[in-house]
Amino acid sequence: MIPFNFTYYRPDSLEEAVRIHSELTSKGLSAVYYSGGSEIITMCRAGSIRPDAVIDIKEIPELKSLAMDESCLRIGSACTLYKIKQSKAYPLLALACGRIADHTNQCRITLGGNICGTIIYKETVPPLLLSDAEVTLLGPEGKRTVPFSDVFDGRIHLLPSELLVSAQIPKWALSAQHFHIKLTAQEKIDYPLVSIAALIKDNFLRIAFSGVCSFPFRSQQIELVLNNKSLSISERAERAASLIPEEYSDRAGSAEYRRFVFKNAIEELLEEWENG
Ligand SMILES: Cc1cc2nc3c(=O)[nH]c(=O)nc-3n(C[C@H](O)[C@H](O)[C@H](O)COP(=O)(O)OP(=O)(O)OC[C@H]3O[C@@H](n4cnc5c(N)ncnc54)[C@H](O)[C@@H]3O)c2cc1C
Repeated sequence: MIPFNFTYYRPDSLEEAVRIHSELTSKGLSAVYYSGGSEIITMCRAGSIRPDAVIDIKEIPELKSLAMDESCLRIGSACTLYKIKQSKAYPLLALACGRIADHTNQCRITLGGNICGTIIYKETVPPLLLSDAEVTLLGPEGKRTVPFSDVFDGRIHLLPSELLVSAQIPKWALSAQHFHIKLTAQEKIDYPLVSIAALIKDNFLRIAFSGVCSFPFRSQQIELVLNNKSLSISERAERAASLIPEEYSDRAGSAEYRRFVFKNAIEELLEEWENG
C-alpha cells in the first residue's frame, strides 16, 4: 500500500505530459513520470519519495514504439525490457535486457525507467554508449536530439520537466559482433557484480561496464589497453583492472573481489574475440 494520497494523470500525448509536469512544478508541487512504476512504487512504499502527482506515460504511442527508420532503430522509452529482448533488433541491448531481473519484472520495467531511475546499475546504458546512440528529449522548451554520451555521465542529465522520449541506435551497431557477460554473486537474476558489454567496430573493441563502480561507464583508456595486441591477454586484463575509475564495495562483493572477477571476465572475453 502507498501510505499517502497523490493525483494520478494519464495524458494522451507527450506534449500534454510535459505540460502537466511543468505546470505542477511551477505551482511548487512534486511530480514524477511513471513508466514501469517498479522503482516509483517501491520508493513510495518505503517513504523515500512522496510525490504530489504521478504522470503515467506508459500508454503514449510514441513511447511504446520500437521501429526501424532509414538510418537507425528507434526505441521508445516506455518499451519494456521484454519487448526489446524479444525484438532482437539490437542484439547487444536484447542480451542486456534479458539478463535484468526475472520474466515478470522484464514485462514491466522500461528502458526509460532503467536509464532515468536511481538504481546504480542501469544495464541498458552500456549498449547505448557503445553504439553512439542518440536520445530524443522533450521539455517545456521543445524537443532536442543529442548524442546519449552528451547527457549521460554516470547518470542522465535532464532539464526541469524534461522527458526521455526515445533512443536511436545507428544501423551499423545492429549487426556488429558483440559480447555480453554478466556475473552475479549468487543467483543469475541478482544485481551484477560485473556486467560487461562489448561491440566491435572496424576491428576495434569498444567496451563498457556496469556493477564494477557505482555508475555504468565506457572508458577510452581501458579500450586502448585492451586493443593493444602487443601485450598478452593477461597483461591487458591486469592493466584494464588498474584503470577502473572507482573502488566500489557492497554486500555482494568488495572492490578487490570485483577487480578479480573483472580481470577474469576480460580475459575470457579477449580469448573469445581473438581466438574464437
Ligand atoms: C526484481 C528487480 C531486479 C532488478 N535487477 C536489475 C539489474 O540486475 N540490473 C539493472 O540495471 N536494473 C535492475 N533492476 C532495476 C530496473 O531495471 C529499473 O531500473 C527500475 O526498476 C525502474 O524501471 P521502471 O520502468 O519500473 O521505472 P519507473 O519506476 O517508472 O521510474 C523510475 C524513475 O525514472 C523516471 N522515468 C521513467 N521513465 C522516464 C522517462 N521516459 N523520462 C524521464 N524520466 C523517466 C521516473 O520518473 C522515476 O524517477 C531491477 C528491478 C527489479 C524490480
